[in-house]
Amino acid sequence: MNLPCETIRDLLPLYHDHVCSPQSRELVEEHLASCEQCQEELSALRAEMKGVNAMENTKPMRDIAKQWKRDKKTSFLKGSLLVSILASLSCILSYEVIGSYVAPDGTLVEPFALIPLAYLFALLAILFGLGLGMVSMAKRLRKRAQNTKA
Ligand SMILES: [Zn+2]
Repeated sequence: MNLPCETIRDLLPLYHDHVCSPQSRELVEEHLASCEQCQEELSALRAEMKGVNAMENTKPMRDIAKQWKRDKKTSFLKGSLLVSILASLSCILSYEVIGSYVAPDGTLVEPFALIPLAYLFALLAILFGLGLGMVSMAKRLRKRAQNTKA
């Protein structure tokens, strides 16, 4: 008896996982012996399953992914730190450049807003710097814990 390929392909996953009945198994094997396409289908299924298992079992891959995520956090903090420092400096600089003058009506005109802004960015820079320090400290502690474990 020869079943159509569609039927066999429906059974292939069950056949692969050894969960079909002995009769179905026999039918699948009988069909496979004479059908190259279904043989290919089965080997593709095998390769796919192997890939899935390998992915689940590769701890190094996950470690790399984790490391990547951590590095992204670090570079984000570094970038933010740099931007904050630059922003703070440019505020101070433009305050100096713009300077102050007395308006005709006698009021002192100064780019006052730049000073709190400069402080704000400086504060941000400090916070990002602290964050960066904490991240690298955590990294060091983790490394030490790993070394003592090993
Ligand atoms: Zn077939």
